Amino acid sequence: MLKRLLSYVSGNGKKKPRTYQRREIPRDQHNVSRSAISEPAKKVLSRLNNAGYEAYLVGGGVRDILLGGKPKDFDIATNATPEEVHDLFRNSRLIGRRFRIVHVLFGREVIEVTTFRGNAADADEEDDDDDRRTSEHGLLLRDNVYGSQEEDALRRDFTVNALYYCIRDFTVVDFANGIEDLKNRQMRLIGDPETRYREDPVRMLRAVRFAAKLGFDIEPETEAPIRELAPLLTHIPPARLFEEVLKLFSAGHGEATYDLLSEYNLLAPLFPETVQAINNGEPDELIRQALRNTDARIAKGKSVTPYFLFAAMLWPALQAEWRKRQDNGEPVQPALHQSIAKVIGRQVQATSIPKRFSGPMKEIWELQMRLPRRQGKRAFVTMSHPRFRAAYDFLLVREESGEIEPGLGQWWTEFQETDERGQERMLTQLGSDRPRKRRRKKPAKKA
Ligand code: ATP
Ligand code: MG
Repeated sequence: MLKRLLSYVSGNGKKKPRTYQRREIPRDQHNVSRSAISEPAKKVLSRLNNAGYEAYLVGGGVRDILLGGKPKDFDIATNATPEEVHDLFRNSRLIGRRFRIVHVLFGREVIEVTTFRGNAADADEEDDDDDRRTSEHGLLLRDNVYGSQEEDALRRDFTVNALYYCIRDFTVVDFANGIEDLKNRQMRLIGDPETRYREDPVRMLRAVRFAAKLGFDIEPETEAPIRELAPLLTHIPPARLFEEVLKLFSAGHGEATYDLLSEYNLLAPLFPETVQAINNGEPDELIRQALRNTDARIAKGKSVTPYFLFAAMLWPALQAEWRKRQDNGEPVQPALHQSIAKVIGRQVQATSIPKRFSGPMKEIWELQMRLPRRQGKRAFVTMSHPRFRAAYDFLLVREESGEIEPGLGQWWTEFQETDERGQERMLTQLGSDRPRKRRRKKPAKKA
């Protein structure tokens, strides 16, 4: 057993083995208190314990409390099988995609319960093991081998994510020197970094996400292979990458995350068109400004919408394509529509964009052309568009980022705030301010 664990953490003997030892930190030596844990999470832990199973709080739940923060959600690890967990909780469902896990539902809160899993090297040695498969790139395709708590700890991604809290005796259990890395504020992969990234390239994104969110460094050996292995992310299904992008940019540290992603070549597999446009000289100031605003919104407890985020992330790509088409003589409006279709069509090969988000994203972009045209009834028609508010916010970001001269945003701000007479005045003034020579189409007569 010991030999196996050593071979696993050393990544097939390529590097000198790093030994890990189980360590128990008693209640008086850590700051995890029961009051920091949500009632539903405590309920699940107690019921599993009372039914005779081992159950621990694990992952971000323990990590964030130890750091004095508030966990986003609570994950529980247990020696009960998914079916056994499901039987204990009427309000639960078995989820079975990559891993079989159980979601226990309490209103809007979801407690994720996973069964202790075995580790990579053990299963890889057994050729006929059908529950664990890797692809030619080392990617884990299936991972349903159950194991001990120790094995479960060592197949987790980062040392600081492999800490367990026991609600029975209030101890924190550390298998991988996670406490030490937490103190030194660094993200360190458990085991051989290259092997672990090949198993699951999304771990590279997770390294960056946690580093940005927690203000941690990525430990040198964990950091070293990322730039080179970043293209492995193209093997990840677009739907999973879409979810990861949302996590990356909605944790309240979007701008820092963006910088790290760029630094580690991780932005290109996520937004290939955007990176290409930026490399060709398109500014990314709008993206930064949008992420700054998003971070500020999240700090105030406001929500962020995926379509706004994607509208910003793809804006440089759209701008480049749109300009290219206009340079080739296409009229503005059709060029925009063609560009939108093209940019989205290419993006969904990297990250999916569910229709409920791509629709509104397109509308935000299209409205950018309508916002300057306010004469007559137009301002009112535009303002009644369901996506007006988002498009107006987007316009403000464009102005703040210096992409366009400020002015129009302020006009719209006033137009929304003033009363009907004020609006009429603004429109009249607009007409006299900017006499425009326009060929009027005859208004279509209503029957
Ligand atoms: P947060 O919930 O704040 O995003 P977290 O660390 O709880 O952070 P989750 O995605 O909720 O992250 O996963 C829970 C735990 O499951 C992690 O802490 C880690 O131990 C393990 N885990 C998640 N994803 C992976 C992965 N790709 N490879 C290995 N272990 C993972
Ligand atoms: Mg979590």
